[in-house]
Amino acid sequence: MIYFDNSATTFPSDRVRTVINDMLRDEFSGNPGSLHKLGVAADKAYCDTQAKVADLLGAYGSEIIFTSCATESANTAIRGFMSRNGRAGKRVISTRTEHKASLECLALLEKSGYEVVYLPVGTDGKPDLAELEKAMTVEKTALLCFTLVNNETGSVLPLDQITALRNRLSPDTKIYLDAVQALGKMPINLHKMNVDMCSFSGHKIHSVKGNGVLYVKDGVRIDPFILGGGQQKGMRSGTQSLLLAKAFEVALEEAVETMDGSHEDISKINEYLRKELTKRDARILSPDDALPNVLNVAFEGFESETMLHCLEIYDIFVSTVSACSSKAKKVSYVLLESGVDRKTAANAVRLSFSRYNTMKEAEDFIKTVDDIYDKFAVMK
Ligand code: PLP
Repeated sequence: MIYFDNSATTFPSDRVRTVINDMLRDEFSGNPGSLHKLGVAADKAYCDTQAKVADLLGAYGSEIIFTSCATESANTAIRGFMSRNGRAGKRVISTRTEHKASLECLALLEKSGYEVVYLPVGTDGKPDLAELEKAMTVEKTALLCFTLVNNETGSVLPLDQITALRNRLSPDTKIYLDAVQALGKMPINLHKMNVDMCSFSGHKIHSVKGNGVLYVKDGVRIDPFILGGGQQKGMRSGTQSLLLAKAFEVALEEAVETMDGSHEDISKINEYLRKELTKRDARILSPDDALPNVLNVAFEGFESETMLHCLEIYDIFVSTVSACSSKAKKVSYVLLESGVDRKTAANAVRLSFSRYNTMKEAEDFIKTVDDIYDKFAVMK
């Protein structure tokens, strides 16, 4: 099997599998809210995990909320911030290339009377910063909502320029960042990055499904999304899962440890595939300066889904548009917004890599593409 669909999800690493087994033992199975010693032990382990995750992200433990997924983190941050901070204004600036986890929250805000300004993005997938400056000068803006690495193209946000603009023009405006596809692939230090809220997902970094993180900078007030018993300082009720938090911690630690080496290996794979695919008349849709973990490519004459299923015959797994919306058979809105024509976008396939992929797999992928062109070109 060749798994080139790591932006959709990853497989749990061996260390994650081991820690999950360990955490299933009775001594870790108490409720962190219980007063007896099993509860106290579980609470201590949970707080230790929170502190470790915070440390790995350049944040304080008090700023880390464990959630069920990045979608929950985005909902909590965007909706929670806007509902809590009425005096900050009713205006948000974003783009139409955000993940649906953000876009649907923004759409809901619009329905509730908020204004959302969507900046145009260039062919490099980056928001137009001149337009951002204009939009921030016109009127008070409560929130900027952006994605650090786009899940479909790997396009990287010019975050430093955005935070500098915010600091200069409107220091009270807060920044929410979706860093799901950046985690473990580029250095993350939340305090240095100067963002106010940020979301992450465990299953994209070789943890398991069901664990996400939301960072909320100390001093930033948001309304909780999930109400109940007041766990996690009231910010996310529901009995904490030590097992899932620990799985996230271990996956993050491993991702950070291996980041430099895997960046180099993945860059070589990406470069090789760009070169070989271009020779075969495939069109590379990821920008040149995209994160190497994502490579979006249009295969001339093959609709996205046809290519996906042709590759599947060879036990090779890729995505069409992002996995969560791919069953809807739509052309990627991210590509269309970035100026790719509809016909090309309809042929787009996303390859996404992890540290477990090898150059040999990339070579086999190219041989398979040749074979598919030979065998199936008649279907074109
Ligand atoms: N944001 C981005 C950029 C993503 O790629 C994804 C998942 O594909 C999400 C948010 C949602 O993550 P989750 O599956 O943890 O809800």
